[in-house]
Amino acid sequence: MSRLFDLSGRTALITGGSRGIGHAIAQALTGAGARVVINGRSADALAQAAQALRVDGAQVDTAAFDVCDSAAVTAGIADIESRIGPIDILVNNAGIQRRAPLDQFADDDWHALMDTNLNSVFYVSRAVAQGMLARGRGKIINIASVQSELARPNIAPYTASKGAIRNLTRGMCADWAARGLQINAIAPGYFDTPLNKALVEDPVFDAWLCKRTPAGRWGRLEDLHGAAVFLASSASDFVNGQTIFVDGGIVSVI
Ligand code: NDP
Repeated sequence: MSRLFDLSGRTALITGGSRGIGHAIAQALTGAGARVVINGRSADALAQAAQALRVDGAQVDTAAFDVCDSAAVTAGIADIESRIGPIDILVNNAGIQRRAPLDQFADDDWHALMDTNLNSVFYVSRAVAQGMLARGRGKIINIASVQSELARPNIAPYTASKGAIRNLTRGMCADWAARGLQINAIAPGYFDTPLNKALVEDPVFDAWLCKRTPAGRWGRLEDLHGAAVFLASSASDFVNGQTIFVDGGIVSVI
């Protein structure tokens, strides 16, 4: 049974792996035996994060590039493949948040959100899929959100980007499932990360969230480990195009 979830001999690339949810997923995948490559824009932050992940003999490499820059992505993936080897698992996690009423939302913020949360997933997946399709095998995990399903005031553009991620996951499945790839998404509920600093520090939001979440609490980063290992491993070989909500029940209960 445990071999179903064993990632020994597999290499995973995690975009935005220097902190928060990406870092937690890197921890989960190394724990299951994978070699991981963490990406982000800051080489210093990556070096520190990699050091923290190197426990119990975990193999951790870094790759600094901006996932919003198509040419940098192509070069970054080629560099990983020549320096480290084939990428078996891709986690498209890098993402940002910008909050403002939609009628006051600035063009720059809209484009930054779409570039980071959506366009990057296309650039990185297209580049990594070349090798996966040639080998007839690969796992892609896109990080969606409860906002793939539900809106909330002041984050309409984020909601649009995460809704698109859910459907891009289905589209990748349509194009690549027959060629040996499994593409699924994890939709986290609310987790205490730098992206959510403003919400974590707001006692009114905190009280509302704990009441609104059937599980009655914020997510803990380790709550994401199981879904990440499942979707990265052979245990999910016939699961395709799905979005798994790890949200304490938010989208199931009004
Ligand atoms: P954080 O802000 O904590 O971390 C974001 C990571 O993405 C950092 O490693 C950052 O590194 C990297 N990143 C941002 N922009 C780029 C870029 N252009 N190129 C490369 N790397 C980049 O965010 P979270 O961990 O909270 O969020 C991670 C993902 O999870 C996002 O997609 C988010 O939308 C999603 N999510 C988060 C939830 C939460 O409750 N926190 C809930 C649902 C979904 P650097 O800045 O150095 O580049």
